[in-house]
Amino acid sequence: MNDSMIKNGLNEYVNKGRLYILSAPSGAGKTTLCGEILKTIPSLKESVSFTTRSPRTGEHNNIDYTFVSVDEFKEALAAGEFIEWAEVHGNYYGTSIKRIQEIQADGGDVLLDIDTHGARQIRARHIDATYIFILPPSLEMLRERLYKRNLDDEATITRRLNKAKDEIRECMYYDYIIVNDNLHHAIDGLKSIILSSRLKADCLNADWFESKFGIFGVS
Ligand code: 5GP
Repeated sequence: MNDSMIKNGLNEYVNKGRLYILSAPSGAGKTTLCGEILKTIPSLKESVSFTTRSPRTGEHNNIDYTFVSVDEFKEALAAGEFIEWAEVHGNYYGTSIKRIQEIQADGGDVLLDIDTHGARQIRARHIDATYIFILPPSLEMLRERLYKRNLDDEATITRRLNKAKDEIRECMYYDYIIVNDNLHHAIDGLKSIILSSRLKADCLNADWFESKFGIFGVS
């Protein structure tokens, strides 16, 4: 299957607006994987989360995150604007319901890069979604990557590793697990999961089916 088939072929007969939930401990390579998969599958869009953490060098408001104050976050939370939210490493993160709906209304599938608490909340709401967990090759490799990327001090790295262990325990609740020991293989795996999820029988577009085959009542 090539990129133009992905762009042109699938959307016609596939129900739009599927939700893909991606979780991984920090340092597992999720950001790189997300970036690659968003380039490869154009109809897939990431919902930009809200966070109270400060922007890192090179991060842009409303692109990487919408950066808000704690008060602004709490206001949005109280107004019921988030489908899920979590406190991660002392900062709040939340996914806007409106942003998901906007992507879906535009015919896109939605990618959520959220932690395991957030994923659990969405699962508890019985929302139909595909849950994907990215594992690092080992805890030792994760420690190495966190040191090498040089973003955090010692205390933060220890905190991230502790949280990583807690998160890794939850990977069994996900539909798919990708071990990111090789970026190309991991990208291929992620692409396959997304494309095959779209081809599940319950993703068949009933209007398309009726118009092509004159048979009603599927899906
Ligand atoms: P970072 O600050 O390193 O970008 O992200 C820290 C963690 O927060 C990552 O595990 C990321 O997946 C998670 N995260 C980012 N946005 C959200 C969100 O909207 N909700 C939840 N629950 N977690 C998020």
